[in-house]
Amino acid sequence: MTLSLVQSIALLLLAPHAWGQSPGASQAATGSNEADDTTSPPSPLPRACPTDCATEYFQNVPEEWESDYRRVMDNLTPLLGFYDIDIVAWPSSEPPPTLDGHSVQPGQYVGGRDDQRGRHRTLMVLEIDLNELRNQHAHRLSVIAHEYFHVYQRNRNPSLRGRFDIKWLIEGSAAVFESMYLDEYEREPNYYQTAQLRHADPQSFGAPMEHYENGEVNYGTSTAMVLLACKDVGFQRMIDFWKRRPTNQNWKRLFEDTFGMSVEALYAAGQAGGLDELKLSAMGSLKTIRY
Ligand SMILES: [Zn+2]
Repeated sequence: MTLSLVQSIALLLLAPHAWGQSPGASQAATGSNEADDTTSPPSPLPRACPTDCATEYFQNVPEEWESDYRRVMDNLTPLLGFYDIDIVAWPSSEPPPTLDGHSVQPGQYVGGRDDQRGRHRTLMVLEIDLNELRNQHAHRLSVIAHEYFHVYQRNRNPSLRGRFDIKWLIEGSAAVFESMYLDEYEREPNYYQTAQLRHADPQSFGAPMEHYENGEVNYGTSTAMVLLACKDVGFQRMIDFWKRRPTNQNWKRLFEDTFGMSVEALYAAGQAGGLDELKLSAMGSLKTIRY
């Protein structure tokens, strides 16, 4: 993925208003503390289809891509659950499809929109990179895992619709999940090194990565930040953090509670270097994580 693509994805993640702002989201932004630091267990993940089944808007997708997509989703849904969302896919050689009278913004991202009946809908957008398909690049598979993890994040933490936007936590978690997916399900154990950690930068490790405005290649530094945070406790701890529904107001306190280390201590540790020695194997197995 190029830097410009990464930046455009970041912008799209930040700009769901292109699809219409949900009235619920704006009320929540000024409303009570209902989503703060809850210790009540989150509702069970939706496990059934068709009641929680995604609606697919596929336009001229190559057969080979669709069979990859089905297999990846068959692997992901037992882990992350089923969701009543809209999924749009089309080949990059064509203009994006139209949904509810709007042309879909190109790229690979998860956003939100209000449909014609005024209901807020989560939208997962998968523009198919035909070069990746031709070259059998692992990213053609991992991007599906990355974006579906964002769907899971939004379900676990509704604050992602306007009240929580710390980039390294959102993107680093999705990036680590996608690498764990490739390792466990696709026999691609080195993606986190060759595509992600290779771009990690100790100089920007820390507060700059809290903001989507600060671009990075393949979320390399954000990946390193999550790998370092979970180095001794596994990726389960990051999932536990998401389940506590962090907001922009409480996330540092929740992080320290969950990880037993302050955000500032994590930043200082990463700036000291050694990022290329981080190991994906320390994250544990996706199959044993309690989502
Ligand atoms: Zn992402």
